[in-house]
Amino acid sequence: MKSLIYTPIATGDKLTEKLSGLSEEGFEIMFDSGGYHVQTNNGDFEELYKYIMPFYEQNDWGHRYVLPDNVPLSDDDEATVDQKVKETRANARLSYYFLPDKLKSKAIPVIQGSTYEHVTECVETYAELDKVQTVGFGSFETFGNNNGVNIISEDVATTLRYAVNLAHEQELEVHAFGVGGPTVIPVLNHLGVDSFDCSSWIRAGGYGEIYFPFKSPMHVSHDTDRNGPKVFREDLNQLRSESGHSCPFCRSYTELRESRISRILHNLIVLKEMSRGVGDYTTDEVLTQMNDQSRYTSLLRSLA
Ligand SMILES: [Zn+2]
Repeated sequence: MKSLIYTPIATGDKLTEKLSGLSEEGFEIMFDSGGYHVQTNNGDFEELYKYIMPFYEQNDWGHRYVLPDNVPLSDDDEATVDQKVKETRANARLSYYFLPDKLKSKAIPVIQGSTYEHVTECVETYAELDKVQTVGFGSFETFGNNNGVNIISEDVATTLRYAVNLAHEQELEVHAFGVGGPTVIPVLNHLGVDSFDCSSWIRAGGYGEIYFPFKSPMHVSHDTDRNGPKVFREDLNQLRSESGHSCPFCRSYTELRESRISRILHNLIVLKEMSRGVGDYTTDEVLTQMNDQSRYTSLLRSLA
């Protein structure tokens, strides 16, 4: 499957045109409303709504349409989060209503909030939108530069599991926004998440890191100043044969070391293979392949 997610409000018309061409070639394009982008760039919800709804109407070639949401931030107080969740639900209803009929079955309303109550209210609201098939989950904790990386803490995992169970009872699938990686995929699978998107593979490749199934990202570098796991020239073949992964981009250690784009493409292929194959393993089989020190190894252990 060739599919990608993109945030029109953050990019612009030129890319939209390109993607429209790709969709004609069979790519599945998911439009992200840009709720998070707007929040972190001092925009407001009103502005987002006025931009995205006409955009959706004019671009009916997409595969999925994320409905505009009002994203709580980690430093919001309880009352603000309550208010934002309420607005997200009300506006999902409104946007669904105004979305052209032929796009309604492609709409993805987003579950926001941090409590069971928030999740329940969101799922109940979205289950009433009769053509909706998928709901999104975006309430992750973030860390890193500009809060760039979504992480699944133990609390978030509990909320997500609750959301997935509730949504499945209503025959709704769950898409997790902005999380993924060789150690996160087993957790998402264990929680019953139906789909996810992530850009971690690009970021990791840019930092000189490569993926192997179920392993924490590893540096391809002899630079011993770097923290974290490393892959040395003599390790590569063993990693490839042990993991059963091979692709044209990881044949040569030198190429992986020198070429950012080879690392990125190798990482993407690893994630693709994992998301297809992870369901074939039991949790115990997965755990034996994961690094002991990974955050998600302990999380998966505690969930299991
Ligand atoms: Zn590879």
